[in-house]
Amino acid sequence: MISRVDLANITKLTKATISTQVSHLIEEGLLIETHQEYYNVGRKPIMLSLNYHAGYAIGIDLDYRDITFTVSDLIGKPVHSDKVELRNSNYDDVLQILISQINKYKETYSQSRYGIVGVVIGIHGTVKNDETIGFVPQHKWHNMNLKGDLEQHLDLAVSIENNANLCAFAEKVFSCHTSENLISINMYSGIGLGVLMNGELVKGYLGYTGEIGHMIINPDGKPCNCGNSGCWELYASEGSFFKQLTEKLDQSKLDYRDVKNLIKAKDPVVMHEIDAFIKYIVVDLNNIINLLNPETLVLNSELLKLFPEAESKIKLKLTSSISSYKEILLSELGTNACVMGACALAIKKFLEIPELRLTCGLKNRI
Ligand SMILES: [Zn+2]
Repeated sequence: MISRVDLANITKLTKATISTQVSHLIEEGLLIETHQEYYNVGRKPIMLSLNYHAGYAIGIDLDYRDITFTVSDLIGKPVHSDKVELRNSNYDDVLQILISQINKYKETYSQSRYGIVGVVIGIHGTVKNDETIGFVPQHKWHNMNLKGDLEQHLDLAVSIENNANLCAFAEKVFSCHTSENLISINMYSGIGLGVLMNGELVKGYLGYTGEIGHMIINPDGKPCNCGNSGCWELYASEGSFFKQLTEKLDQSKLDYRDVKNLIKAKDPVVMHEIDAFIKYIVVDLNNIINLLNPETLVLNSELLKLFPEAESKIKLKLTSSISSYKEILLSELGTNACVMGACALAIKKFLEIPELRLTCGLKNRI
């Protein structure tokens, strides 16, 4: 909440200008007048607040096995979330699921002033600068115009973005407000990198920046489905960790809870695998740090969070006297980073503002 007087002081605009602008925004339903509660003596000043129920954003994480939908208000606070399981990779089937879910939210939030203000979808694959899909390896989709196909059926603004980019954007918007050079590394089934330099997402020639999981760390290593051998994600993704551990422990399936219990029991096999996992993470972190000189490096991995010493072990192994960074953090947003970043991007586009900082839904920093 802020008063007109404070707005004038901060922006150095005249009180008359602020008054006119505020009236427009109140007419548009984006601002509301309210009273500050803790003024218990004297006249309560009239404060202004963003009317965060004026509209709602939809953030979507289109993953391999399921699609996560999150609806947030205009300050990025999630108000509803659904997860829909995918039975197959058929593009038309997935399109129908997206249309039907989005239409459901459109109906539910139709009473608010602006209804759904935008839809942003995170894709686990390459997204071109024109927002068409280049390639999604796990669904085997090539050159799809998902944005166009959805906008044909929905009267809404739809944006498509790479999921690692949305995660980096979410870290900046919700957590690391002042970091202008931030990178975020997702380490789940594969490894993706989102890069924000001078506050802007770095996209590259076609928009494919950050396919870091396929950086080769061992030219004679394991074969990868990208056609090369020894790619980083075959050694340092959670997918590769679980594959290796299930084989070594002769189990059909293991999950986070199993690993947590094994760490607690100091099981020698799991401790050895975690050491190897961290060793391979550090190999390429060193390369990435040397390449980009980031201020903030966010590691997004639920597995690393299970291992209390992970962060300090990684920092200790980054011993190069050349590589330089300011801070390494484990993501607090975790697996929600993609949908949260998607909601935030939809809000930013709707409000047409150059920078967005939100504080809702944050736990304590690690
Ligand atoms: Zn590869």
